[in-house]
Amino acid sequence: MKKIIILKYGELTTKKDNINYFIKTLKKNISEVLENIEHEIYYDFGRMFIYVAEKDIDEVVNILQNIFGIFEIIIGFKDENTNIESIKSNVLNLVCDKEFKTFKVITKRSDKSYPTNSMEINNIVGEYLLTNISNIAVDVHKPEFLINIEIRKNEILYYFNGIKGLGGYPVGTLGKGLLMLSGGIDSPVAGYMTIKRGVKIEAIYFESPPHTSELAKDKVIKLARVLAKYNSNIKLHIINFTEIQETILKNIEHEYLITIMRRMMYRISAIIAHNNKCNILINGESIGQVASQTLTSMRAINEVIKMPVIRPLACFDKLEIISIAKKINTYEISTLPYEDCCTIFVPLHPVINPDIAKCNLYEKNIDVDKLVHKAIKNHEVIDIKAKEDNKFIDIL
Ligand code: ATP
Ligand code: MG
Repeated sequence: MKKIIILKYGELTTKKDNINYFIKTLKKNISEVLENIEHEIYYDFGRMFIYVAEKDIDEVVNILQNIFGIFEIIIGFKDENTNIESIKSNVLNLVCDKEFKTFKVITKRSDKSYPTNSMEINNIVGEYLLTNISNIAVDVHKPEFLINIEIRKNEILYYFNGIKGLGGYPVGTLGKGLLMLSGGIDSPVAGYMTIKRGVKIEAIYFESPPHTSELAKDKVIKLARVLAKYNSNIKLHIINFTEIQETILKNIEHEYLITIMRRMMYRISAIIAHNNKCNILINGESIGQVASQTLTSMRAINEVIKMPVIRPLACFDKLEIISIAKKINTYEISTLPYEDCCTIFVPLHPVINPDIAKCNLYEKNIDVDKLVHKAIKNHEVIDIKAKEDNKFIDIL
């Protein structure tokens, strides 16, 4: 018998019109991450089958646990002996060392010309197991152990309980978005949640050297590398924000520093997103977390762009966000002690309910367009690949 990997799609199957596109994208994403391992992939609308050498199975299963769009990963067995006697003995051999008290046999007959029907095979195999293994019973409603037999043309597939996959949609099936990635706790979590919805992300980071250090930038690169594991790789746009921040500090009412600074970040992000075919911005804002995240603040900041902004964490509290950050391994990186550009320029009393008319008035003191275009013109791009030894689990 030959081992094969069987994948179930789960959530994909609800997307009836697009299913072919979703499955093809999943196949492409899997082929990309398995580029260094010899493999073959086949699929139908219900499952995907991956053939790899037996020595590579464990490694491939580990890799597949980081791929969105997979609901269940099952190691199955394929045999070309199709007669009922070999089915009975194969099942017995495969299950005899497993621990279970109750079981159920489920046969699917894809090849309708097979002489025995599914119900008959269930009964024959079930009885054979009952006579050969002691202390087990059939439970058709809540079995501990499921024995799946699939009768295909010239081959039989056997498989049992699988491992839970990450779920979500295959990355890229819902287009691209630009994540505003700071070194904080929130934005990497917001990125993870959006990638899970099938959105491929690019990221943008605003740095203010010498007010922010190289180490703060390294931290953002490390965070991007963690996210790249799910996204296949990440294009990170780095914007030098120093001149803008210093200009704002000199020319704007201190109460409004943060509001105007964030309006500038939004303007730049929306242009970078547009130039890179991203349809949305994503950030880690959460209602009420700080003065710039009250509803009036969000409105005053959002007002300067037309592009939609997705805020996956809008209604999460900090403890919930921290618990996700820990599970996706970004928390330890986010809590390294390097200041980012926002924390340095925080005024003592930031406005909680900024007035849009005042924002527009204050901005007359600076040359918004010139500053925005200069920052974009000089921006740096880094292509970030996933680090090989990251292992993740899903939590959502
Ligand atoms: P924390 O976890 O400390 O809240 P944060 O990154 O969420 O960190 P906020 O001040 O709450 O910091 O910023 C709200 C959002 O704005 C961030 O989640 C992020 O999406 C974006 N943002 C803030 N600073 C930057 C920056 N320097 N570069 C890119 N995006 C940023
Ligand atoms: Mg935050």
